[in-house]
Amino acid sequence: MPDVKLAVRNDALGKRRALSTESRKQKSQAIVDSLVKLSLFKDALTIATYLPLPSEVDLSRLLRLEHRSKCFVAPRTLPNFELSFHRVTSSDTFETGFGGAQQPTEAADLVSPSAIDLFLVPLAACDRQGNRLGFGKGYYDRALAGATGYKLGIGFQCQLVDHVPFDSYDVPMNGFLSEEGLIQF
Ligand code: ADP
Ligand code: MG
Repeated sequence: MPDVKLAVRNDALGKRRALSTESRKQKSQAIVDSLVKLSLFKDALTIATYLPLPSEVDLSRLLRLEHRSKCFVAPRTLPNFELSFHRVTSSDTFETGFGGAQQPTEAADLVSPSAIDLFLVPLAACDRQGNRLGFGKGYYDRALAGATGYKLGIGFQCQLVDHVPFDSYDVPMNGFLSEEGLIQF
């Protein structure tokens, strides 16, 4: 199974890398514009976002928008491939975690996954049944096991594939949002 996942993951990540910086920027803008209009976003008080790698959908503008009533959190990588979620604001100083991703510091307020209403989940690939491939370490499978919040996969349309191989421990998404809009599963 890992080899099958690897092939699909590498293929989707290759397509994402092939997008130009400008194209990723425009698509990211479109994704944030449609995200903030969704009722599942408007209704959520505590939202887990992520700090993007250079080739990922960049949601960082979310933190700079005025959402007085909302609490944004972002993940920190822990040993054993676990995540902890910490409160973030646009003025925070971040540090570097797994794979070079930026992350909140250990001192930032810790928020339990059970308190998170909406998870914006980065991914390598997603299929139309909501099966998700991450970066191959299972970070989000562990973090989302038992979480009740809405799990919204975030990616470019080229990351939506016909079939993602999955295992019993993989946590499926409830929706997928790309520059072409929302799909719910
Ligand atoms: P990803 O979801 O990042 O694409 P995989 O689904 O291949 O990665 O999972 C990577 C590893 O994480 C697997 O070897 C799997 O055994 C482990 N894993 C996933 N979820 C859990 C979990 N809930 N508890 C323990 N190990 C897990
Ligand atoms: Mg997985």
